[in-house]
Amino acid sequence: MATTTGVRTPLGDVPLFDGGLTELAAGTWAWLQPNGGLGESNAGLVVGDGAALLIDTLWDERLTAEMLEAVVPVCEQAGAPLTNLFNTHGDGDHWYGNGLLGAGVEIIATAPAIEQMKAEPPSMLTRLGPVGTLAGVVGRIPMLPAADRLRGLGGFMSMLGAYEFGGIEQRVPEHSFTDAKALEIGGRRVELTFVGPAHTTGDAIAWVPDARVVFAGDILFNDVMPIMWAGPVGNWIAALERIEALGPAAVVGGHGPVGGVADCIALREYWVWLREQVLAAGADFDALELTERLIRSADFERWRDWRGAERTLVNVARIASTERGGSSEIGTAERLKLIGSMGALVERLRR
Ligand SMILES: [Zn+2]
Repeated sequence: MATTTGVRTPLGDVPLFDGGLTELAAGTWAWLQPNGGLGESNAGLVVGDGAALLIDTLWDERLTAEMLEAVVPVCEQAGAPLTNLFNTHGDGDHWYGNGLLGAGVEIIATAPAIEQMKAEPPSMLTRLGPVGTLAGVVGRIPMLPAADRLRGLGGFMSMLGAYEFGGIEQRVPEHSFTDAKALEIGGRRVELTFVGPAHTTGDAIAWVPDARVVFAGDILFNDVMPIMWAGPVGNWIAALERIEALGPAAVVGGHGPVGGVADCIALREYWVWLREQVLAAGADFDALELTERLIRSADFERWRDWRGAERTLVNVARIASTERGGSSEIGTAERLKLIGSMGALVERLRR
C-alpha cells in the first residue's frame, strides 16, 4: 500500500508516481520520493524479529523526520525497533538525516563513502549557497564569457533552496567495510557489497535474499537520467550485471519508482552506448557540443523519457576522463564547472 507524501514533490512538481512507504515483500519496504529528481531520494526498510534495518536517510532532517513518522509505527507494530542503518553511498541525499536516529542505532557504509561524507558535510552546501546566488546574478550580464554556465550554476543552486541544510546534526557511520559485509537483522540476512567507484567513490548495494529485493542506492536511477560523478563506467556496468544476475523480484533505486531487472538492463545499455560514443569522439572534443549532439540523435530516443537529459553532459565528461586513466575523485571546482555546463545545456536544448 502506497501513501502519497504530499500534493507536490520536494522540488515543487506534481508527483508522477506514488510516494511514501511501499511494502515489496513481507517486512521489506521502500520509501519513495517522487519524482526522483535532485535530492528526491529513496530509502528502504527491512524488518526482522526484534530488529530492523533502515537503508539510507534523506537530504535534510525535515524529510527524514517525515519518513521516520511512517517507518517507526511499522517497526513498533512488528516489535522490531530500528537497530541498524546502512548508507548506500556518500552523497548527502542518502545520509544527511542520520543525526535523527537514536544513538543506539549502528550505522555502516563503505570506507570510501565515509571519506566522502567527512569531506562533504551539510555545512558545505550552506557555504556554497551565496556562490550560487552570485553566479546567477553575474550570469545575467549580457556578452559576459561563460554567462550561460554561470546562469546554469545559479539555477542549480536555487533548486537547493527546497531543502534545509542549516543546523543539521552531522552523523557519519561508525562502522565501515571494504568489499562485502553480511548483516543479520533479527534473523534475516542482508548482504552488502561494494560496487564502486561508479556513481560516487563509495557505492554499495544491499541484497535481501529472503525477499529477493535489491536496494541499489544510486546504482539504479529509474525513469530518471543517472549522473556519474566518479566512474569508471565499467564498474557501474558490472554492478548492474551483478544485480541482474541475482534475479531480484524488485530493485529499489536511489531515485525514481521501484524497478526491476528490465530497468537495470535499460540503464546498462545506456552506459554501454554512451561509452562507445565518447570513445569514438576521440581525445579532443567540447563536452557541451558532443552531449547536445548525442541527446538530439535518433539513438537517444530509447532514453528520451528519462527526466534530466542534461546529466548526460557530466557522464560524457567523466567517461572521457576516467577511460583515459583519470581519477575517480572529482574536485569541487570541477564539479561546479560541470553543474554550470549542465545549466547551459538545458538552455541550448530549449532552443
Ligand atoms: Zn542520490
